[in-house]
Amino acid sequence: MRITRRTLLSGAAAGIATAAFRPHAAWAETHFTLGGMEVTTLSDGYLTQPADFMFAPMPQDELAAYLASQGMERDAPLTPPCNVTLVRHENRVILFDAGSGTGFMDSVGALPDALAALGVDPGDITHVVFTHGHADHLWGVIDDFDEPFFFNAAHLMGRVEFDYWNDPATIDTISEDRVPMAAGAKRRLDLVGEHFTLFEDGAEVLPGVIAQATFGHSPGHMSFALADGGQAAMVVGDAILNDHTAFAHPDWPIGADSDLEAAARMRAGLLDQLAAEAMPMIGFHLPNGGVGHVDRFEGAFRFVPA
Ligand SMILES: [Zn+2]
Repeated sequence: MRITRRTLLSGAAAGIATAAFRPHAAWAETHFTLGGMEVTTLSDGYLTQPADFMFAPMPQDELAAYLASQGMERDAPLTPPCNVTLVRHENRVILFDAGSGTGFMDSVGALPDALAALGVDPGDITHVVFTHGHADHLWGVIDDFDEPFFFNAAHLMGRVEFDYWNDPATIDTISEDRVPMAAGAKRRLDLVGEHFTLFEDGAEVLPGVIAQATFGHSPGHMSFALADGGQAAMVVGDAILNDHTAFAHPDWPIGADSDLEAAARMRAGLLDQLAAEAMPMIGFHLPNGGVGHVDRFEGAFRFVPA
């Protein structure tokens, strides 16, 4: 259920929108701790994408051989899960990305239900930290009345990413198929703008949360190292976009990235770092709630679910 204006004056909306409204909105959750941080990943649902959205720019003969070896079809629609990370640390309740909300796709928008199942009210969220401004990460910031859904929260976004989507010129310069996403981002930044705090690469945006620039999937995409009590994990957002080609062939361009070459370089470097540091990771579109680690495998990498 979403609606709100404090959910139609509280309680009144109980019969308006039930979980049956979103038949696929299972709120799977995965839980672990890092020192004093309680980390939970919640499902916002899943995307439905044509295969070419990911595969079109890849070397097609090698891709066909690779997908066959994985038992995957080249042209079947892709249905990647969407995992929003919730961190409870000291007196903070932190969300990494806001999910899709109601206006993007029917198969996403389950985050409010997932939070409710956990006993977390939107008003309990103290911080929403964004990896980037794409629809499945940003559009959930507003409710159906165009008001901030996480109405008590500070909103934090990397400055480069914020400036890109907030620039009125972006709608004129972005590829045509992405114009609706740019318009949707600009509208939300305008609506929630005064609640945004901007940060740079390397900033400790909150205690134990350190931003790491992973530009390429979007112009100012950020990942976040979570660290407490000598333990650490990395929220990678969409820097590592799938659990197949991104690991086995990190150098292959991925159609969903905005700068294909920069994203491929960044991805290979990030995978190398995560493998070298044996650091667990949370990927927004990876299976198993996104939680796992990176193994070196056959000259490249593979995702090992936790
Ligand atoms: Zn995404």
